[in-house]
Amino acid sequence: MKFEPVIGLEVHAELRTESKMFCSCAVVDNTLAAPNTAVCPVCSGMPGALPAANQKAVEFGIRVALALQCDVQETSIFARKNYFYPDLPKGYQISQYESPPAVNGILAVQTSEGEQIVRVRRVHLEEDTGKLTHVEAGGKSYSLIDLNRAGVPLLEVVSEPDMHSAEAARAYGEALRDVLRYLRVNSGDMEKGVMRFEANVSVRPVTEPGDEPAPLGTRTEVKNLNSFRALERAILYEIERQSKILTAGGVVEQETLGWSDARGQTYSQRSKEEAHDYRYFPEPDLPPLVVEPEWVRRVSAELPELPYAKYRRFMSEYGLNSYNAWRLTEEQAVADYFENAAASAPPQPVANWILGDLFSFINQSGAGADLADTFRDLKVAPSALAELARIVSEGQINQSSGKEVLAEMFGTGKRAAEIVEARGLTQVSDQSLISNLVTQTLAENPKEVASFKGGKTAVSNFLFGQVMKKAAGRANPQVVRAELERQLSQ
Ligand SMILES: [Zn+2]
Repeated sequence: MKFEPVIGLEVHAELRTESKMFCSCAVVDNTLAAPNTAVCPVCSGMPGALPAANQKAVEFGIRVALALQCDVQETSIFARKNYFYPDLPKGYQISQYESPPAVNGILAVQTSEGEQIVRVRRVHLEEDTGKLTHVEAGGKSYSLIDLNRAGVPLLEVVSEPDMHSAEAARAYGEALRDVLRYLRVNSGDMEKGVMRFEANVSVRPVTEPGDEPAPLGTRTEVKNLNSFRALERAILYEIERQSKILTAGGVVEQETLGWSDARGQTYSQRSKEEAHDYRYFPEPDLPPLVVEPEWVRRVSAELPELPYAKYRRFMSEYGLNSYNAWRLTEEQAVADYFENAAASAPPQPVANWILGDLFSFINQSGAGADLADTFRDLKVAPSALAELARIVSEGQINQSSGKEVLAEMFGTGKRAAEIVEARGLTQVSDQSLISNLVTQTLAENPKEVASFKGGKTAVSNFLFGQVMKKAAGRANPQVVRAELERQLSQ
């Protein structure tokens, strides 16, 4: 039996605000700050401490909601989600449940099967928990708690179960990260755990075309996936595991699963809890969250052009194919760089230089994971790359010399023309010089020439190669071919 996977994603993204969601503690980088240095009575759950909602976090939420084309609700409610966990000293998390601030959005994603629209069910705000570190030392095992992260604003984006492959789920995660980065509400730095995924996965039998789809299968929820790779692997694993159970006549149990990256397996954490287990109720310490239409209009007016719109424009305006347009628009700094360069050089060669050799030099140089920083600090200015693209497109130097030149530009910041001059790389386009080389070559290869004149062969690559050799590879190939044909046809 063949099975179709049905996948929905919940994404938690930390918001890059200066202070926490419900108190004025700073949001700190946990890889730099000492533990428990950004904590107050509110975020450590002291009795009597009162929360107040962070306006900037709400605004960031509106930005994301608008970018995902959601309906923004004028009034939404904060709710208490009750559960005990050591990294949550209050014993509950303030979240949003019954009345979320934004619903019914969409996100376009790009997979190997083409473009797909994934529906977004809701977007809401909540707070992050603290961080536990489990330690074993001196024969004892114990846990350390750091509350710097407790109360950091989190945005939760919940999709509909519209994805049908692990690839599509990953593409959705990446597209959402790109949107959050464009909006400057999240760094997208996966290694710092600023985005976490939960995947809901089920499978159902594939039905004949035209038949009603089979009802949805029982789903499992895989928690705490911290990288795109883990997300994709965990989903692939679950699809296979569930398909095997069903093929063997078994029953998939609804449960919450963890993911072990080392073992490449999901494992049972607990049987799935239901919403009523959390005993949600409206947060009595916070008023309803009211977002005036005027505020929404203002945020909307300030939205940048988003990755998807830019992608469409790059195809129509610059004639790029879908893949190139997608790669160039994933990161705003790269898109800007491309547009600045393409202002003074043909767009396709500029795209090729960026996505090919420039990216490969950046990778080799071991520049940081943050492409935005890397492109801002690049020694090759967009106008300098444009100059190189022009020099090569016009045939002044060949492609492989171009790569050498770019390597030096990348290391030194010198201009292309300067390097071409210093290295003597200019291609010979001089007609009389090439004409002489061709004459010599034909004289030295009478058999090849006779074969051509007898109508047996076209201008051979052999003769062409001989001329290029004499020119030490620096003759303009178009001029050489034209001259060969001219002399041979005489
Ligand atoms: Zn605090």
